[in-house]
Amino acid sequence: MRKNIVAGNWKMNNDLAETSELLNHLKMQLVKEPTAEVYVAPSYVSLYHAFQTLKDTPVKVAAQNMHFAKSGAHTGEVSAQMLMSTGVNTVILGHSERRAQFGETDEILAKKVTAAIEAGMEVIFCFGEELEERKGDKHFDVVKSQLENAIFHLSKEDWKNVILAYEPVWAIGTGETASPEQAQEVHAYVRKLVADKYDSETAENVSILYGGSVKPDNAKEIFGKEDVDGGLIGGASLKAIDFLAIVNAFE
Ligand code: PEP
Repeated sequence: MRKNIVAGNWKMNNDLAETSELLNHLKMQLVKEPTAEVYVAPSYVSLYHAFQTLKDTPVKVAAQNMHFAKSGAHTGEVSAQMLMSTGVNTVILGHSERRAQFGETDEILAKKVTAAIEAGMEVIFCFGEELEERKGDKHFDVVKSQLENAIFHLSKEDWKNVILAYEPVWAIGTGETASPEQAQEVHAYVRKLVADKYDSETAENVSILYGGSVKPDNAKEIFGKEDVDGGLIGGASLKAIDFLAIVNAFE
């Protein structure tokens, strides 16, 4: 059975003191056995601290990005091996902000995905169409090519360490949410793509998260859809009370 997952992407927000405060709030207020697996992704500088703070809790820590090389002349970059040395075993790859602001192509992402999986990490792989593509009814084609080009080279075995996150770009940080029906339609399509490429077992077991302006007041309806297994949360993950309400939004 696939897992329900709620992951908070803190982006470039919160310095070490602010991160520490938010982590402590989460630690104090999270129920002992949440109905979803919970992840938080602070900035690199706070990762080790976050891991140390949360290591005796069910909350997992994820990085927001990584380089595909193990080491070398890549100023400003961080490898899978470095992340794992801090205790962090999960990485978000393919976020639309990385694609748009840092030129991350499907080709680069394929290398990152391979490097992370080979290192033994778990990958939260983000994909999703832009507004123009949605308006032009191209969203299914866009999503298909993003998956085919950057993650469908993995083996069936590798998919035990993959979480997918459908994040329509037009819904990220805009307050505009895909309707539960729009999310369900794409999630079901993606699950079918995975079944066709691998098999029904792989498709049934992979968690597919929705991301894009999920808030406490819309989470329940979105998470209630059959193929939506949780959320990747940006803005609303920065306030413990909102994030925890989303974590608790599963029926
Ligand atoms: C995100 O950046 O992954 C995201 C979903 O952001 P927000 O929830 O703020 O739309």
